Amino acid sequence: MSTDWTLAGLPLREELRGESPYGAPQLDVPVALNVNENPYPPSEHVVAQIAAAVADAARSLNRYPDRDALALRADLAAYLTADGGVELGADQVWAANGSNEIMLQLLQAFGGPGRTTVSFAPTYSMYPEYARDTHTDWVAGRRAEDFGLDLAQVLEVLEKHEPSVVLLASPNNPTGTALSLADIETIADVAPGMVVIDEAYGEFRRAGVPSALSLLPAFPRLVVIRTMSKAFALAGGRLGYLAASPAVVDAVRIVRLPYHLSAITQAAARAALANAAELLAAVDELRAERDRTVAWLRGIGLQAADSDANFVLFGTFADRHAVWQGLLDRGILIRETGPDGWLRVSIGTPDEMTAFRRALEEVRNG
Ligand code: PMP
Repeated sequence: MSTDWTLAGLPLREELRGESPYGAPQLDVPVALNVNENPYPPSEHVVAQIAAAVADAARSLNRYPDRDALALRADLAAYLTADGGVELGADQVWAANGSNEIMLQLLQAFGGPGRTTVSFAPTYSMYPEYARDTHTDWVAGRRAEDFGLDLAQVLEVLEKHEPSVVLLASPNNPTGTALSLADIETIADVAPGMVVIDEAYGEFRRAGVPSALSLLPAFPRLVVIRTMSKAFALAGGRLGYLAASPAVVDAVRIVRLPYHLSAITQAAARAALANAAELLAAVDELRAERDRTVAWLRGIGLQAADSDANFVLFGTFADRHAVWQGLLDRGILIRETGPDGWLRVSIGTPDEMTAFRRALEEVRNG
């Protein structure tokens, strides 16, 4: 047997050779505005309720959890019904460990060898990794100059590649751009397979921007993904979910691992949902802070993309890395991502955003 203990000595799948694990730098900084987290931790009141629910779940940890997470799915359906204005039942909702796992499960069920997933860049950088990990071919068209979709190009790409999954983030990461319902309807009308709208940032959309949830009754192959990581400030809890027809939920249940969602996760998520009003109260503040940030960036002569999310893409800089580093040197960590010359800042507390603005002015005047 070989005595090579390095990664190179292992029979790793060929397409994984040279790859590194996805993730933003995890640096210990005073102001972290790099992974689109919600800056407001749960209140002591919510912490106590989550702790009590988890303690209760712990009393039966000798047993496996509810494989189908029915109580949690009923709670999520009730929340979505209120948010999207369309009546949804528990059989139309599926939950997993973050929307990351939801997307992986969707590609396990609907992608695979000989099949193609299509998206439009710049977009969430995990999408090609889900495709790779499920042996699904990945095709990325381009978004238009304003980061919206160029429908003519979209239709061309769909016709050429006949994807079994079209994956669209709305609002999109890293641009913040939401899609119009008309565009989603046009795509859903002609797409030959599943159309997945990733609304991880859905709750941050501006007034008047609708959710794709309202289209679910019209399209049997439409899926809307949400997460509790952002608006609910529960990134550490790992709870993502989808809404779709019951048949889509049945398909995903075929590929899910047994007992994929721990009793602890289910209990914590239900306790958080029971406090939705309190947790979501910060969303309005974050939206206002986001709009102020866009206006401020434009006011100092930079470009800032319209944002329906809890982050803003701004630029452009001849040397964006130098700007990113200059901010980091001042204790502010943002994200070097998106098209050349652009940077992305997550919306933090008013104090954090003041620190960001001050540091950016220093770096620019430096
Ligand atoms: N979709 C988009 C567009 C995202 O930006 C993210 C997280 N950054 C996710 C999905 C995954 O979120 P989670 O797994 O925490 O639900």
